Amino acid sequence: MKFSIVSKGDKRSNKIMATVKQYLTDFNLIYDEKLPELVISVGGDGTLLEAFHRYVHRLKSTAFIGIHTGHLGFYADWVPEEIEKLVIEIAKTPYQVVEYPLLEMIIRFKTERKEIRFLALNEATIKTAEGSVVFDVQIRGEHFETFRGDGLCISTPSGSTAYNKALGGAIIHPSIEAIQLTEMASINNRVFRTIGSPLILPKHHTCLLKPMVDRSFLIARDHYTDTYTDVKSIQCRVAKEKVRFVRYRPFPFWNRVRDSFVAEGEEVHKA
Ligand code: NAP
Ligand code: MN
Repeated sequence: MKFSIVSKGDKRSNKIMATVKQYLTDFNLIYDEKLPELVISVGGDGTLLEAFHRYVHRLKSTAFIGIHTGHLGFYADWVPEEIEKLVIEIAKTPYQVVEYPLLEMIIRFKTERKEIRFLALNEATIKTAEGSVVFDVQIRGEHFETFRGDGLCISTPSGSTAYNKALGGAIIHPSIEAIQLTEMASINNRVFRTIGSPLILPKHHTCLLKPMVDRSFLIARDHYTDTYTDVKSIQCRVAKEKVRFVRYRPFPFWNRVRDSFVAEGEEVHKA
């Protein structure tokens, strides 16, 4: 089996990367950065996002696994102390894979410029540095609302614990194929009105955002932001592609949510 490793780049992560690479090569696995079947990320969730985007063009033949060198991660759920155990699991090969839904975003332009399509593992956000964004929000081809405010966040279920959570969005189990639209500081008064609640859209329900005021938009896909002008529309939906994670042991999503967000507080409460 061919594998590759993406490191966060700090000393500790690089050291773990070197160790894992050595162990797996000793087990006759082949290090191949171009065509890996298994991609190991060493760092944090941000490192896994980077690994995902590096291999986004071959999601069908790639499976991901994360070792965290910081605090517990949502995507990185193995600790450095377990690497011997993990290496043996990898060397034994047959592994279970869980698939998580992704977000597809298509940006279309008023000019001749070709449309841009990308996938996000956590979310995409649309903001502007020029005041507020004003969008005509359409769902399944029908006008839903006119949004005015700081911006919008469209997240995946596995990304629902990231930026989406900070915006008051719901945490969605990744077995649910959906995307969630959350508002960033919408303007609500007698003139302007938005729904105010996060919206959860099932597969095939496309959301189309049409800028009503021309702006230079800051559009982020996961950890990467770019600026776009002359935007005609931004289309979002559940992607047909999925991301595959390797599972050598069960680590239920809700346990991860609990361990990340509530476990410590509970300990304090008991004491
Ligand atoms: P970062 O600034 O290091 O990320 C912010 C935090 O989000 C980090 O603690 C990161 O974990 C964590 N995180 C990433 N994906 C997560 C997930 N699916 N569930 C729970 N926590 C998650 O930047 P980054 O590492 O490049 O990550 C980019 C992500 O940051 C974006 O996709 C967005 O979701 C998030 N973000 C959040 C806010 C906010 O909450 N207000 C604002 C901007 C961006 P690690 O430390 O393990 O990397
Ligand atoms: Mn990070």
